Amino acid sequence: MRGMNDILPDEAGLWLWFEDIVREWLESYGYRNIRMPLLEPTALFKRAIGEVTDIVEKEMYSFTDELNGDELTLRPEGTASCVRAVLQNNLLYNAPQRLYYSGPMFRHERPQKGRYRQFHQVGVEALGFAGPDIDAEMILMCARLWRKLGIRDVTLQINTLGDTAARQRHREKLTAYFGQHRDALDKDAERRLHSNPLRILDSKNPAMQPLIEGAPRLMDELDEEALKHFAAMQVILKRHDIAFGINTRLVRGLDYYNRTVFEWVTTRLGAQGTICAGGRFDGLIGQVGGKPQPACGFAMGIERLLSLLQEDGMENPPMPLDVYLVHQGELAESMANVVAEQLRDAGLRVLLHCGGGSFKSQMKRADGSNAVCAVIIGDDEAAANKAALKPLRGGAQELLTLAELPHKIHELIKQ
Ligand code: ATP
Ligand code: MG
Repeated sequence: MRGMNDILPDEAGLWLWFEDIVREWLESYGYRNIRMPLLEPTALFKRAIGEVTDIVEKEMYSFTDELNGDELTLRPEGTASCVRAVLQNNLLYNAPQRLYYSGPMFRHERPQKGRYRQFHQVGVEALGFAGPDIDAEMILMCARLWRKLGIRDVTLQINTLGDTAARQRHREKLTAYFGQHRDALDKDAERRLHSNPLRILDSKNPAMQPLIEGAPRLMDELDEEALKHFAAMQVILKRHDIAFGINTRLVRGLDYYNRTVFEWVTTRLGAQGTICAGGRFDGLIGQVGGKPQPACGFAMGIERLLSLLQEDGMENPPMPLDVYLVHQGELAESMANVVAEQLRDAGLRVLLHCGGGSFKSQMKRADGSNAVCAVIIGDDEAAANKAALKPLRGGAQELLTLAELPHKIHELIKQ
């Protein structure tokens, strides 16, 4: 299906490598895994993300379940589901929660490089935390992950969206300003003038840019508390030598954000340059029906991250394999899978040749397999309860008893 990709074995190795690093990284900050369903009631996303956003207006895969009439949507992002799960299960009752999830998200977009209809995110949420220290922690975490992955050329943009009152004042000024310039608005902007004027600032239409440049700035409306929060976060970033730019036009495409927002951007993926984005959403938990609690989170796009790494020449790591087991003859065949199981008992990764063929053709497979050694069993070896061990990266073949075999292979691997 358009925009929904198979990840084939030749590429999946890179995903597994990435997932290992990510898990270790998240554990090093004390974040715990949570897994939510891929489907949620449509109303949840409308309420959380906002009715007048690109995602809800035109990107969701929503449908009616014909069996019971439920209105359902394939999740376009994870924060709404995560908050729903946390509230339904009362996880915030005793303590704040540091959580992460990872998996497919679905958005009906025009497929292109770095933009798919089924794509994958790692999402990280800190629920129940109010201070700027957690905003900074999230950014420091990202910086560490880029170092671990060897990702270069990403820059950090930050902004603050302030709190409800300031946003309301700003909204009124925007409505008045864009209202005075109605003839310069495009169709989307016209529609959003009263429903969500903030979204007009997000417009990618070049013709709209001069008008947007001159629009009232949220910065000028911000309350002292929000400014203090923003400044305190910057102090922490500076203490850790994290370079950033303040981008006052960064508003993000989801309504639930307030105060800190941030994006990690690279110039190397064309227009799809944002690899990671997030911010604070102090209002969301209350909006989804819980007792109001502050929160902060971010999500990164795995496809975009991996394509950055591939551009840097990163290749799919080959499947790790210790032994390729070659066998020929009836007696040998009946012994081969017993030996294979014994070697696995000893902690080895064993590919048992199946489908017959000459020794020569089987050895060719073994050579091409990335295994450290071949274990070779013919009827003569089988009759003597022995096997030949042939190192595939140089070294002489040896005839060994089955008891000696695992130990010798472990020695070979260590070399
Ligand atoms: P964009 O501005 O590129 O549309 P967004 O603001 O819609 O991104 P978020 O909802 O913040 O993106 O999602 C977080 C991250 O998920 C993005 O920074 C990006 O890396 C990735 N992402 C979002 N949409 C897609 C998509 N359709 N295909 C691949 N990755 C995506
Ligand atoms: Mg988008």
